[in-house]
Formats: sequence, C-alpha cells, structure tokens
Amino acid sequence: MIAGKEIEIMDIISPDDFNSGRCFQLRGGSSATPSSSQSARKSFSNPFKSVCKPSSKDNRQNDFQNCKPRHDPYAPNSLVMPRPDKNHQWMLNKNCFPIVDVVIDPHLVHHLRPHQKEGVIFLYESVMGMRMSGRCGAILADEMGLGKTLQCISLIWTLQCQGPYGGKPVIKKTLIVTPGSLVKNWKKEFQKWLGSERIKIFTVDQDHKVDEFIKSTLYSVLIISYEMLLRSLDQIKNVKFDLLICDEGHRLKNSTIKTTSALISLFCEKRIILTGTPVQNDLQEFFALIDFVNPGILGSLSSYRKIYEEPIIKSREPSASEEEKELGERRAAELTCFTGLFILRRTQEIINKYLPPKIENIVFCRPAALQIELYQKLLNSQAVRFCLQGLLENSPHLICIGALKKLCNHPCLLFNSIKEKKCSSTCDKNEERSLYEGLLKVFPADYDPLLFTETDSGKLQVLTKLLAVIHELRPMEKVVLVSNYTQTLNVLQEVCKRHGYAYTRLDGQTPISQRQQIVDGFNSKYSTDFIFLLSSKAGGVGLNLIGGSHLILYDIDWNPATDIQAMSRVWRDGQKHSVHIYRLLTTGTIEEKIYQRQISKQSLSGAVVDLAKTSEHIQFSVEELKNLFTFHESSHCITHDLLDCMCTEDLTDDSLEKCAVSRHCQLGPQYQKSDSLKSLSMSQLKQWKHFSGDNVNLTDPFLERIRGNVSFFFQNITNQATAE
Ligand SMILES: [Zn+2]
Repeated sequence: MIAGKEIEIMDIISPDDFNSGRCFQLRGGSSATPSSSQSARKSFSNPFKSVCKPSSKDNRQNDFQNCKPRHDPYAPNSLVMPRPDKNHQWMLNKNCFPIVDVVIDPHLVHHLRPHQKEGVIFLYESVMGMRMSGRCGAILADEMGLGKTLQCISLIWTLQCQGPYGGKPVIKKTLIVTPGSLVKNWKKEFQKWLGSERIKIFTVDQDHKVDEFIKSTLYSVLIISYEMLLRSLDQIKNVKFDLLICDEGHRLKNSTIKTTSALISLFCEKRIILTGTPVQNDLQEFFALIDFVNPGILGSLSSYRKIYEEPIIKSREPSASEEEKELGERRAAELTCFTGLFILRRTQEIINKYLPPKIENIVFCRPAALQIELYQKLLNSQAVRFCLQGLLENSPHLICIGALKKLCNHPCLLFNSIKEKKCSSTCDKNEERSLYEGLLKVFPADYDPLLFTETDSGKLQVLTKLLAVIHELRPMEKVVLVSNYTQTLNVLQEVCKRHGYAYTRLDGQTPISQRQQIVDGFNSKYSTDFIFLLSSKAGGVGLNLIGGSHLILYDIDWNPATDIQAMSRVWRDGQKHSVHIYRLLTTGTIEEKIYQRQISKQSLSGAVVDLAKTSEHIQFSVEELKNLFTFHESSHCITHDLLDCMCTEDLTDDSLEKCAVSRHCQLGPQYQKSDSLKSLSMSQLKQWKHFSGDNVNLTDPFLERIRGNVSFFFQNITNQATAE
C-alpha cells in the first residue's frame, strides 16, 4: 500500500532502462537505431510480392513501362536515394506499385558537394518516414554557408517529380516560411539551380497576394515571410501543402508564441526546420523544435521536463552528487541518440578545404598623438575614478567604455559627443559631463570634426594605406569594410570620397527591400564599387558578400559572433580569390582588452554565442573595469605580452631576423587550420605567426605597406596549399 492505494509490482525495470530514461518513452524499451541506407537496401532484396494482389499481366506491364526511374541510376556520379524497407512498403505501398529508384536530377548532382549529397539523403529519408517509422520531420542545423537552401531545393525538386512507389511524385505543393529579408533570396536560389522553366515559384509580397497562388495551378512552391504568414493564415490553411520548410527555424523556440501555433495549425506531416545554430543548448527550445517537426515524439512537455530536462540540469550544477551526475549524463546521451535520428548538424569546417586560402591578420595600430593625450585625460577623469571605486550607483562605465571606443576609431567622434552634451541643456548626467571635463582644450582651437585629418587616428592611417595598397596591387578585387557604428561608417565613407574610391553602403537604415539589390550589385563582376561599407549590426543572416575578397574589421564588438559572422560573409562557397582579413586594434587600449575577452571567454564556454547580447548585458567586476581602464602606452602588444610567448624576448640585433617566424610561433601544422566559425582561443593565437612592426621578415606586401604605423601583427593562413 502506498498513500492509500494498492500497488502491484508487475515487472522490474533494469537500471539501464531507468538511467537512460528509455523505460518512460512510449516506444518501450528498445533503443533507437537508425535505419542506415545500407540496411534499407539490403532488406529490399526480397520485397514481399506474395502479399500483393497479382495484377493482370497487361496492367503490370503498363506499370513497369511508366515506372522507369526519371534519371539513370547507373550513370556515373548518379545520386540514388535509398529504397524503402519492407516495413515501409507494407505501410505505404498498399497498391503494390513497383519500386522505382529515386534519382536526383544530374543537373543538380553536378553542383552538390559531398556533404550536401549526404544532407539530401538525410532529408529524403526523414520526410519519407524511413528513419523512424511514422515520423516525417527533420531538423537541418548546418552552419551558415553549407548550402541548406540547395539541399532543400534538391529535395523539393526530387519529391515533386519522383517517388519510390511506381515513380509517383511524393509531393505536389511546398510551403517555405522564412524571414522577410530572405524571401527574394530563396526565389533567386531556385532560379539559380533550376532555372525558371522547371519549377514555378510564388513569393508573397505587397503586390503578390496568397490568393493569386491559390487560384493559379502554375505554382508548386509558395515562399512567404513569417509576418505575412500570420496575416494570411486563413487562406493558407485552405491549401494542402505536402511539405513545410521553416527557414531560420530557431524562431519557433516557444510553442506558445503566435508564429509557432500558426504553423502547428497547418496540416502538413512532412516538416523541416532549418537553422544555423546548434539546437541543443536550451533544453526547452529544443523540445519546442523537436515537438514541431515530430509532434509528440518526446511525450508531453511536463514528462519531458521530468525525464530529461530536470535530471540533465541538475547534473550540471556544481553541487550535483555523483549519482545525479551519472543520471543526467545518461539521460542527455539517450536524448541525443534518439533525436539524432532526425537532426543533422555540420559545421563549416567540412567545406573549408574547398575554399581559397584565407589570410587572417590582427593588426595592432599605434595610436596617434592626439589619441594618446585624450585617452589619458579620459582615464584620469572623475567619472572613471568613480567607476573604479564603485562609488556611483548607476555606474557610468558604459559611457566611459563608449567614449574610449569612439576615441580609438577617431577623435572627431569623441569631439562630436562632447559637443552634443554641451549643447543639450537637459543633460543632467553629471558623470558624463565630468567625463568630458577639460577634453575640448586638448583639441585644436578651430577643430572641425567634418574636416578630420586621417593622421589623428592610428587605425584610420593604417586603413587608408591598406586601401591604397589593395587598390594598387589588386585592382580587380574589392573590399568589405565593417564597423559597428553608423557614425564611424560616416567617417569611413568620407575617407572613400576623399580618395575617390567608389563605394556602396548597407547599414541599419537601409530598407530591407533594397538590401538584396545592393548586395547583388556589389557581387556582380560588372560592379565598379571598390568598397562595401557594412554595419555589422545590419546583418541579416543570408548576406553573402563573396564579391569582396578583403575584409577589414575597423572596430571590435564584445560579441565575437558579430565579427565571425562578418568574416564568413566573405570566406565562403563561391569565393574565387584568396581572402584577406584585417582586424584593426589600437595598441594598448580598450580594444585589445575587448579582443582578449573575446578569445578567452568564448573559448572557455565553447557555447553558442547569442548575437543579441551586447555590452549592456555584460557584468564587470571592479577588477575587470580596472583592467579595461588601463592604458599600456609602452607595450607593442599587450595581447602578445599575455601569451607568455618567447619569440620577441631576445630581440638582439643578430637574432632579429630569426625571431618570430622561425621560433615556436609556427608549431604544428594541425593548428594552421582554424575553424572559421569557432572563435579563436589564446592558445591557438600562440600558434599564429607573430611579427613586431619592425620585423624585417615581412613578406606580405599588404602588411609591408602599413608596418610604419603598426606595432605588432598576428597572422594565420588557412588553406595555403590551394594556392591562387
Ligand atoms: Zn610570439
């Protein structure tokens, strides 16, 4: 008797079944095993004809005549989908149609990379219910740049024309839901891979309503933004879609939000979520995504919490007992194994080998005299002192950090801020006023920020020289110039004008409707633009800037993801030239500190980086603030100092030539290939090439030109073997 109830023990659960959590699942105790394509093929060797009603001889002949594969499965390089196994046939081929090979259109196969072929097979098996009986959902979580779109297009085109049973097409209509900024991009991709004749695509916008799609029989694919979907949900519900693809699907984090419930309300069994971020970091989001593509597969949310979420979270707490740790690990492992059947995640690493060389440079620029003077003044201000003593309640450290960052970009930006504060009569922030106290006196009396001189900023000087040498040595190549701030972009734009460089610009103010046009214009080989001015915040995930092969990150963000994303816009599939990346940092200043924080913190956690997180969300200890607000005027590179690297220590005259390059800075070749999307760690940085600005061994013609203003370089070359 337990709590007044009579209990009968019917069976004993094995510790293994309990620890893994398998015994709680509806499927009973069997562990999930993927039906690999090979085993599927094997079991086909004897399809059970006996169950089928024998059709008349004529009919059968007819059937077989119509049932040839659409493309030759035996042609060299053909990509043939796995055949369904007996169980699948028994469930879904009630009419006993002959089995026909599903063969991907050779026109597409020609363009598919090995990992994309794998991805197409994965998607095919998933939506056909071949990976898990009765389940037709999948999550494709490939990192940006791996061609999720092409994999989906291949799947749609295949299923729309072919099927394993009698060659009958599996789907008629497909719905693709995507962020508004990517609607046009999807259509373009369809045209790129399939042309405009094979398949008719309908995109919903102001001028093209869903009605039009419904009335016409021409179109088989509807592409719509999440916003438009909500607005036209009633009409869309009336259409029978056979395949639903949700691009940037991590938006469906929560099953209670409107978009998700709208999508759930659509009757469509075959569902695919596309996302570029790992899905397993937040267990609740994970449930929402899984439950969307394969409803109910993890049971109810409350049982999921009890069986998986709670033990897993508990096991990760520092206070967890050994028992709790083991249980949590087992449950996590089982969850991964089970859901792994319909989740595919690959990182960019797998295509790096096909990309042209990437030369990454971290360039430490000597601050200009005016910058040094202002920097020291700022650090000696009352506001900064109060910050460090933790005296102010609303500690104005963010304002101080902002002022220092502006100064590093160019003193004229700081000048503008001071002027703004002076002019605004409503300014009641004493701290901010005290921060700027006496700074104006440092500027020349007739200082005009619009007429800024380039020599007043170390980084700007390096930039102008860099642009000049690229223009001179690589007249056919283009530059993507990135900043986090619109005001800085204005300064950079002015530099373009002064030097007569043709440029184009995309920032937060650029209307979404124009963005694609600007990007296409720049990428076109007919474009005369030399420079693409980009606000890193104006992002948009699909922004592809392979027209540029030199990327200059003018300033640094707290969040490494912002910069990593910028880099991957250029070094990605389709890039024809060697890619040069320059990260400009002002030596000894807060920019170096932010950079160090990027590479140390991020490598520790190894977790996903949330693009939404900015400096406002970062908590600083007084100790950290002290470090941030210290200026290392005499160091060539405090980042290098921190590495404990010996390469520059004995810089005597005769060892000068041998230093840096020849020493342990080039340890193993295994460190040479860095994953472009993982952030760099301190220890990796140690493996890069180190050059001090006065190093005589600089062979890079671009670095050679700017060395006069540079105190230190780090350089790393990826894919050097595949020379230009
Ligand atoms: Zn070194």
